[in-house]
Amino acid sequence: MSSLITLEGKKGLVVGIANRHSIAYGCAAAFKALGAELAITYLNEKAEPHVLPLADSLGASIVLPCDVREPGQLEAVFEAIKTSWGRLDFVLHSIAFAPKEDLHARVVDCSRDGFMLAMDISCHSFIRMARLAEPLMTHGGCLQTVSFYGSEKVVEHYNLMGPVKAALESATRYLAAELGPKGIRVHALSPGPLKTRAGSGIDRFDTLLQRAAERAPSDKLVTIEDVGACSAFLASDAAKALNGSLAFIDGGYHILA
Ligand code: NAD
Repeated sequence: MSSLITLEGKKGLVVGIANRHSIAYGCAAAFKALGAELAITYLNEKAEPHVLPLADSLGASIVLPCDVREPGQLEAVFEAIKTSWGRLDFVLHSIAFAPKEDLHARVVDCSRDGFMLAMDISCHSFIRMARLAEPLMTHGGCLQTVSFYGSEKVVEHYNLMGPVKAALESATRYLAAELGPKGIRVHALSPGPLKTRAGSGIDRFDTLLQRAAERAPSDKLVTIEDVGACSAFLASDAAKALNGSLAFIDGGYHILA
């Protein structure tokens, strides 16, 4: 009997694996487990040795470098997908960056350059990915990005990333409305705090983890496997009636006053 939730026959691009703790890795593992064929990127030469063994274990058929700041690199990834696959079914954008001095400063004090760089890597790159994916999603598709609750509430020490994630969530809704008629669905995942490299860049991140573990109605932190399962469901045809969602994967933390 065929499973209701499957990614058999689907081809997906995963951007954002740095190591086995990355949210993108948890998602990629779930995509693979449900039968998808994957294209995986790594940031640069320094990241390559950490990502290649993971891409191997996921049986990725396309593995390429992609620093979204580098002109042409993102385009080259989509060109390779077009040449090898001729189409694309889903994309996971799981990347973010802000310069440390701006991330650790009050929003009032963040620099113009730091703000623009954080917006470019963490938000506008998702719009660029959507634009490049659109012509390849000939039978519809699903685009997903990863946000955080600090977009809508002031979370101590989340600082500059708050307004950046707010822009990302808003962009998600506009992309969902614009691409919906083509059967392309666009979602933002909003996981609770997870111990990853990007997470540890946030000042006093351990306090954030501890508070989430203590206060979430589920009584525990979420895992990258939890995020992967939800992401894989959203990428599947079982979720074809969902579009423009902000999916809180946080054990219910966001409902608390
Ligand atoms: P991570 O450090 O494993 O992943 C961050 C990724 O961003 C890395 O793979 C890194 O290479 C990539 N990246 C940074 N600059 C880039 C650039 N210029 N071009 C291409 N890639 C670039 O950490 P993570 O926690 O898995 O982060 C993934 C996403 O999840 C981020 O958007 C983050 O804001 C979001 N998020 C994280 C948490 C958490 O608590 N860890 C919670 C909610 C949302």
